[in-house]
Amino acid sequence: MQKHIDIAAFSEITPTASISAEMHGGRAKCLQRLIRLDLPVPKTIALSFPAIRAISTGQLPDLKEILAHFGDHPLVSVRPSSQDPDWGGPGAILNIGMNADVHAHLADRIGQDAADRLYLRFIQSYAVHVERLDPDIFEDAVGIQGYLAAFENELEVEFPKTAEAQLAEVLRSMSRAWDGTSARLLRQAKGAPADAGLGLVVQEMALGIGTGECGSGVIQFISKTTGLPQITGRYMSQSQGRDAVAASVGAIYLTRDPRGPSLEELCPDIFADLQTHGDICRTRLREEMQIEFTIDAGTLNILDAVRVQRNSRADVRIAVDLARDEIIRPDEAVLRIDPGSLPELLHNQIDPDGARDVFATGIAASPGAATGKIVFTARAAQMAAARDEAVILVRRETSPEDIRGMHASVGVLTERGGTTSHAAVIARGLGLPCVVGASGMKLNRRDRTMTGDDGRVFREGDMITLDGTEGVALAGEATLLEPALDDAFHTLMGWTDEFGDIAVRANADTPAEARVARAFGADGIGLCRTEHMFFDEDRLTVMREMIFVEGAENRAAVIERLLPMQRADFLAMFEIMDNQPVCIRLFDPPLHEFLPTGKEGTGELADALGLSVSVVNERAEALSEVNPMLGMRGVRLGIAVPEIYDMQARAILEATVELQKSGKTIVPEIMVPLVSAKREMEIVKAQIESVAAQVHSETGADFDFKLGVMVETPRAALRAEEIAETSTFMSFGTNDLTQMAYGLSRDDAGRFMSAYVDRGVFPEDPFHRLDRDGVGELLTIGAERGRKGRKDIVLSVCGEHGGDIDSIAFCRDAGFDYVSCSPFRVPVARLAAAHLALKAWEFPT
Ligand code: PEP
Ligand code: MG
Repeated sequence: MQKHIDIAAFSEITPTASISAEMHGGRAKCLQRLIRLDLPVPKTIALSFPAIRAISTGQLPDLKEILAHFGDHPLVSVRPSSQDPDWGGPGAILNIGMNADVHAHLADRIGQDAADRLYLRFIQSYAVHVERLDPDIFEDAVGIQGYLAAFENELEVEFPKTAEAQLAEVLRSMSRAWDGTSARLLRQAKGAPADAGLGLVVQEMALGIGTGECGSGVIQFISKTTGLPQITGRYMSQSQGRDAVAASVGAIYLTRDPRGPSLEELCPDIFADLQTHGDICRTRLREEMQIEFTIDAGTLNILDAVRVQRNSRADVRIAVDLARDEIIRPDEAVLRIDPGSLPELLHNQIDPDGARDVFATGIAASPGAATGKIVFTARAAQMAAARDEAVILVRRETSPEDIRGMHASVGVLTERGGTTSHAAVIARGLGLPCVVGASGMKLNRRDRTMTGDDGRVFREGDMITLDGTEGVALAGEATLLEPALDDAFHTLMGWTDEFGDIAVRANADTPAEARVARAFGADGIGLCRTEHMFFDEDRLTVMREMIFVEGAENRAAVIERLLPMQRADFLAMFEIMDNQPVCIRLFDPPLHEFLPTGKEGTGELADALGLSVSVVNERAEALSEVNPMLGMRGVRLGIAVPEIYDMQARAILEATVELQKSGKTIVPEIMVPLVSAKREMEIVKAQIESVAAQVHSETGADFDFKLGVMVETPRAALRAEEIAETSTFMSFGTNDLTQMAYGLSRDDAGRFMSAYVDRGVFPEDPFHRLDRDGVGELLTIGAERGRKGRKDIVLSVCGEHGGDIDSIAFCRDAGFDYVSCSPFRVPVARLAAAHLALKAWEFPT
């Protein structure tokens, strides 16, 4: 005897039944909503999560009682109903209850042929989906008896005859499938908890096969790629379930179409009803739904409705349109969009329906996709750009001298490096797709080839596609989808600002990047890495002269030439940002980064400077350091070679005076990198104040500026109280701070990062997601002590973490004033900030 469980394990879905997504699953709940809206849904019974769980321990619900709801000759379908429809579930089984009796009964009603088809179909789907038999066993079978015999031969048991026995097996197999390892892993990957439950719905069959107009189909009222109104779907006469979607022939269009017949022409009334039902679903379920329907002898049945699957672009359009139509509120529209999905909108993407031929895998360092010919040097990239050719720069790693080559490329692929390596940071700033740390691939410099992870060899000029969103490189030219910054996107972004309560600035180094920052709605510039302004060809040469020149006087003369260039850049940035704050970081990298590498570059430099190659080599040798990232860089360079910071301060302040002439004002923020002691700030502050006094006396203009510190060393965080006395703001440079907190080179971490994440040493790459426990504690200590030293100190993060959602949450909780991230991350950060604020209002702590 089967043990039966409590009657509460199942209930008929009526408008007033107690049905919830948490207990019966999303499909059951949605069906109840459709029933409440008076849509023609066939009788349905919902089985709860505990009921299905009990099945796996051998306890069945009272199947007789369930089937009694469906009359004397019950014929039902069973479909899964997980809490979140995205978590999936076993496929639907139709026509349960089919046996000789029901077959005879049906033959009278819908004709012999149709009844035969239904019976055969059921035997087959039961065998394949419930008993997991190979569909081939029916290859030679003829007629119903042949099918039954094939089944019985294979399993050596009788095909279950009663609806009760069939339903029992269907329920057991679905419960088993839900508990299977692959189903479990799949749904957990989509965010389902380990103990996620499965509900099932048992629904009276609307046959779709028989006399009069019978058939089935799906309809949706919106395009899944644009989100714009568009009726799509298919209908097929004499079909069931999702036959119309799967069919290669026989299905027809829904709306009038010159290519063939349509449901609109075949059954205009039913088509009109479907449109009305679609409207009702949209306004009352507050969502764009795909409706599954069956026509049974001219009568419309709505079997199910699910949220239309869509890409990010359509998702934004749908949410915004629902809010514009006042079906949902703008805050709900904002909360409906996952910030992590925005990069898909901002960059080209590989068409998900296209082919993917991956040859190298690395770290997804900058999102988007691009197709181009391989080049192995920055020079080749520039030459190709001059010919208007799209190229992808492939390097072991990049250095400042590759910048112009990166500008000339449509994507960057490196064998080494992590998320804050040079290539990654620059590519994100430029909005170029970039994959770094593709360590399975090998560059063969001598013969100008590279070998992919799978041993395939690629030559310069070969066409490849880079997917910076996924972190892979593909052979050949993949189909790309264009970004979609349409009015819906801008409307949504406008709403985010009404809710977000932490500002979002951009890391922008050049006027071009400042323009992007502004277009993406940044609240100012939080980090301008001024060294990136020296990478234009003419500037690089002057910079190199400055490095090579001997004697303070000669150096001053070269610096004089850099001054107007910097001043013009700053003025342009101030103008673009139009009254918004601009934070300029003084020169940071070690000087040797500006020197060429390799014989060719050294020779060229020697020619340009009129020096011998050996002098150039000697000077380069003298500048080289064992650990340059921990050496003479940042404020150390500012103190050792004060002329550079003096020149930059002058350029900033002169640009400020210049801007004032046009009636605008700005209070520039000057930021000092890599500080670890208060005295460093005191020295630099005195220097800058002296430059300010000179500019004031030379121009007669009054102006203001702010001086701040970049907290990038653990010591600066620990000594923040006294350092704050010299600074009006503190910006945490979490790239260097992470590097120094872990003692982990940001440029080399890519080599072992995936092994570390795979083996659970780090839950995530700490250069990508702020390490709350360690680096986060330094931030908390630094912020607390900084506030002690100066009550109104402005706090921010400007490392790459500024664009990461979890890291933004950390900064908001710590009461920071703003985060700053690469311009292309600004919309993501703005949306994330709005989510955090809205959720905090909803669930105050
Ligand atoms: C940092 O270290 O976090 C930072 C923003 O500076 P950079 O990446 O230029 O070293
Ligand atoms: Mg830094």
